[in-house]
Amino acid sequence: MASLTRKLRRENKTLGFVPTMGALHEGHLSLISQARQMSDVVIVSIFVNPAQFNEQTDYDKYPRNLTADAALLSEYQIDYIFAPDASEIYGEKFSTYVYVENLTETLEGASRPGHFRGVATVVMILFNTIRPDFAFFGQKDAQQVAVIKRLTQDLGFETEIITSPIVREESGLAMSSRNALLSEQERQKASIIYKALREAKILVKNGERKSVAIAEKVRQVIQSEPLAQIDYIAVVDNETLAPVEKIGENAVLIAVAVRIGKVRLIDNIVFNRKQ
Ligand code: AMP
Repeated sequence: MASLTRKLRRENKTLGFVPTMGALHEGHLSLISQARQMSDVVIVSIFVNPAQFNEQTDYDKYPRNLTADAALLSEYQIDYIFAPDASEIYGEKFSTYVYVENLTETLEGASRPGHFRGVATVVMILFNTIRPDFAFFGQKDAQQVAVIKRLTQDLGFETEIITSPIVREESGLAMSSRNALLSEQERQKASIIYKALREAKILVKNGERKSVAIAEKVRQVIQSEPLAQIDYIAVVDNETLAPVEKIGENAVLIAVAVRIGKVRLIDNIVFNRKQ
């Protein structure tokens, strides 16, 4: 991959890179079509990164289907799939990790210790190998976007980070590879998460400014569904991820993590005072 991308750069091709963990769905495909529009060459990586899983069972259970993914991608105009083995990414004596301070201790970082260390490390390895002009990340993982933007800026990468909106199922449930692990009934019930976020948005539209009240509304709606177990509900600044007490001028992120049965799902919504 490194020698291939070196050659492409010599030919003055712009490289668009979409990192994924496979089990591809329309959320991934929206990133890919954006990559296609912006770049001469589109590279999609499929790599279930062991370093970002803090629970072995979660890693073992994570859906994997490279054949189906490759078949799906053959219908899209991508140029390369990069699907390395874990041993190619993490050599036998691997011992260098990337740690992004401040942005990684809360939310997903608090619930999944070591998660962002794994994400930041693999993204650096992939960026170093590919050296893309553009890399595409979904707003679905809002904290990940903040971390990757910080990381690329801090370490002087020239890669431009492009973010795509959350793609949802008709029910409002954010598309996720983990949705495949839900039963039909759980999948229906999981739509309560987006309903709660929409209710929060309506509350703000009607003049509510206090984060506590907004978070409480989200909590009430989600708790109306007995199958749902809230991990966290956070109202934070969209860029710094610092808690916000009152909605002001800056964009605010409401991020939630909820277990539906055994499956942990995340979702979020961004708004500012005018919305
Ligand atoms: P994953 O394979 O889950 O690691 O996701 C790969 C990329 O796809 C990440 O940048 C995700 O944020 C993005 N992504 C996953 N689900 C969605 C979605 N429903 N809408 C938009 N982007 C998504």
